[in-house]
Amino acid sequence: MNEMTEKRRRRIELRRQAKEEKKEREAAAKEAAALAMQKEDERFMKAAITQAKKAAAIGEVPIGCVIVYDHKIIGRGYNRRNTDKSTLSHAEITAIKKASKVLDDWRLEECRLYVTLEPCQMCAGAIIQARIPTVVIGAMNPKAGCAGSILNLFTVEKFNHQVETVYGVMEEECSRILKDFFTDLRKRLKKE
Ligand SMILES: [Zn+2]
Repeated sequence: MNEMTEKRRRRIELRRQAKEEKKEREAAAKEAAALAMQKEDERFMKAAITQAKKAAAIGEVPIGCVIVYDHKIIGRGYNRRNTDKSTLSHAEITAIKKASKVLDDWRLEECRLYVTLEPCQMCAGAIIQARIPTVVIGAMNPKAGCAGSILNLFTVEKFNHQVETVYGVMEEECSRILKDFFTDLRKRLKKE
């Protein structure tokens, strides 16, 4: 092998190495970003659980919601259906109202909504209407959920807006507060 070919071979090898290192760096950055997002999702789902506990404290089915914009909570809500005697008092609707007030806009196009229980048809509809791009869900709701359980309104292509979903964030905690609530309720009803 003469000197030229050896130099050329080394150059090719260095280029290959650089390419591989770049790929590795990009993969690591992607992984770090995904991990950071996962951590943030858990942090905000915890805030939604805090809202759900407020509902439980007033005897309402514990469902909570927060809406996040630019890494900050701009809307909170919890189920108050019986207290307000209103079918509209779902956690998500309350949070959407508050977030819209903060942003002074009905469009919540750069927001991320966190809810402890899969949204119903009304809330899924409101989420689509508000053009929220992503919804993070704790527990699924086989009896009323419209983000995949009964149907999935978020992926209907004929609507002018589709919603991305992240499922199962702090799922155990989200379903445990519901289970605990209903266990307590049954106990109380038995005593009466
Ligand atoms: Zn709802």
